[in-house]
Amino acid sequence: MAKGNIGVTSDNIFPVIKKFLYSDHEIFLRELVSNAVDATQKLRTLASVNEFKGELGDLKVRVSIDTKKGTLTVSDHGIGMTAEEVDKYINQIAFSGAEEFVNKYKDNAQAIIGHFGLGFYSAFMVSKKVEIFSQSYKEDAPAVHWSCDGSPVYDMEQTIKAERGTDIVLHIDDECKEFLEESKILGLLTKYCKFLPVEIAFGKKKEWKDGKQVETDEDNIINNTNPAWTRKPADLTEEDYSKFYHELYPMSMDEPLFHIHLNVDYPFNLTGILYFPRIKPNMDLHKNKIQLYCNQVFVTDSVENIVPEYLTLLHGVIDSPDIPLNVSRSYLQSDANVKKISGHITKKVADRLAEIFKTDRQQFEEKWEDIKLFIQYGMLSDEKFYERAVKYALLRNVDKKYFTYEEYKTLIEGNQKDKNGDLIYLYANDADAQYAYIQRAKEKGYDVLLMDSQLDVHIISQMEQKNEKTRFVRVDSDIVENLIKKEDDQKVTLTEDEKMALEAVFSSQLPTIEKTNFIVGFENVSEDALPVFLTQEEFMRRMKDMSAMGGGMMSFYGEMPDSYKLVVNTAHPLIKDLLKAEEEACAEKVAPIAEALKAKEAEEAKLKEEQKDKKSDELTTEEKDKAEAITKEVAKLKKDIKDIRAAFAADNATVHQLIDIALLASNLLKGEALAAFVKRSVEVLK
Ligand code: ADP
Repeated sequence: MAKGNIGVTSDNIFPVIKKFLYSDHEIFLRELVSNAVDATQKLRTLASVNEFKGELGDLKVRVSIDTKKGTLTVSDHGIGMTAEEVDKYINQIAFSGAEEFVNKYKDNAQAIIGHFGLGFYSAFMVSKKVEIFSQSYKEDAPAVHWSCDGSPVYDMEQTIKAERGTDIVLHIDDECKEFLEESKILGLLTKYCKFLPVEIAFGKKKEWKDGKQVETDEDNIINNTNPAWTRKPADLTEEDYSKFYHELYPMSMDEPLFHIHLNVDYPFNLTGILYFPRIKPNMDLHKNKIQLYCNQVFVTDSVENIVPEYLTLLHGVIDSPDIPLNVSRSYLQSDANVKKISGHITKKVADRLAEIFKTDRQQFEEKWEDIKLFIQYGMLSDEKFYERAVKYALLRNVDKKYFTYEEYKTLIEGNQKDKNGDLIYLYANDADAQYAYIQRAKEKGYDVLLMDSQLDVHIISQMEQKNEKTRFVRVDSDIVENLIKKEDDQKVTLTEDEKMALEAVFSSQLPTIEKTNFIVGFENVSEDALPVFLTQEEFMRRMKDMSAMGGGMMSFYGEMPDSYKLVVNTAHPLIKDLLKAEEEACAEKVAPIAEALKAKEAEEAKLKEEQKDKKSDELTTEEKDKAEAITKEVAKLKKDIKDIRAAFAADNATVHQLIDIALLASNLLKGEALAAFVKRSVEVLK
């Protein structure tokens, strides 16, 4: 028996391995099974070039548990190792690699992707002792038994092993007993080894017999050695792609919409299949993630920093030995290969969409609602993708017709330019709530888009930014006459006093609605338009829409009240009548107060003129008090006039009816107010 020290410089790396890697110690199984698979593949290669002339025999890798002995064993019939090789590869190389890895890991524990590349020594994360029994394929080389109990001292001796290959026997630590449970190991094998290229057997297949599960003689193979992404696209049918999707995501009931088969040899190696999932509202976007493999070994399902963020919405696998996995995530983005790979995937995805659009527009339109979130996300976050996708991204109008951006522009160019030559895109974000507005816009010959999905607000901003003289206006933001202004506004012909009268009449009767502000304004629209209506400023409303989509700094806008303008259409006969009725009812009472107000205001103006050159601290207390008293009186007189008009308005059914109609048209009339409106409407009919 030989004893020796393993090749590490630091005293004892085992405690470090155990401590630092504790959270992810399950990856030991992947590392050991991958080594077994590699040894098997190497033997196949040697056989294919005739360097190994013996019988290959059964090449399955076997994983087995012995609960009595407390061991987990990974066995292969690969090339095996001679004593010299164990000394070289395990005692020297593996452990110095381990030391290097652990040092890296200490600084950046979370960074190393999928904790890939730990190798053989990861066995010590879960074992109190590890044994190797190996018989090399080389004739005359005696078998070797190596064992190590987690100190830098190992034992190595010659032994007898009947079959070629290597058994790695782990004596599982008392704290890691879960790795002796069948279900745990099966779970790990399914996670990491599901698509390895050599058959992995774990126990025997079971079948139901007389109401009981019994073992058969057949090996339970846990992997598919020939997964779809490693095969040629020409050899695969649609059904194969669908089958593979469900193999990847056994819990998923959905069918993907399309797939893209990736296959590049140069300048980097990349294979894989990406699927477009059907994106439904409220679905968990991160349930079925893209899985990253390295030569068919599962690495991780968090591919951030490897593919652009919007592509992480896709499903499927990518497999590339050229993605550096033994580095920090932040380093990844600057890695030249990763950049190229990411660029390639982006291009492939964009091209595939373009192809479907070109060859089967109908299918593309049918699937648009399912894929648009993804395409829009890409257009908003990646300029290169935008440039490609802008040719086939679709807009949908309220009649469910689809247009490319270009087609839509052509459609509305004739009729929807305003007096400044701006092209106005009208849109609704709730076809039911905005029904009346949509109808009125259509009657005018306008087209209305439906922009009701999560990213549409951002798409609107993007289209406005990218296209000069282009504006989006929500169809309910104003009356139809004002949506696309073809000529200058007609001047409002009211006197100041008439405006004040109407302002008092309407503002005094507006309801108080939580988080909602109203102001009253005047426009000389036309006799045919509504007498009173609400408008909402496009910018503020859009900011609020965005904040509703997702917080950050936008949540500031979400806190702001909704601001509406109650526009009084001074061209409308009803308003003219109302003004007359107000005059008749109030003029007599208002006149003397107005007179007094006029006098006070003159006094106020005079006083201001006298004091205008003096600074505030040069005024005597008397002067200040006088000015303050006059201002108060002016305000009081104004309020008195307002109160008279408010009293008139309170009893005037027309005022209430007009306000309610305006509220109703904007979906703001609810509950008790709505009931009162209905009741009043019936009264009016009597
Ligand atoms: P890596 O696999 O990254 O080279 P490891 O520490 O896992 O690093 O393994 C070190 C070396 O030990 C391998 O390169 C291989 O030569 C040898 N080895 C490990 N496991 C086996 C095995 N099951 N059969 C044959 N050789 C093996």
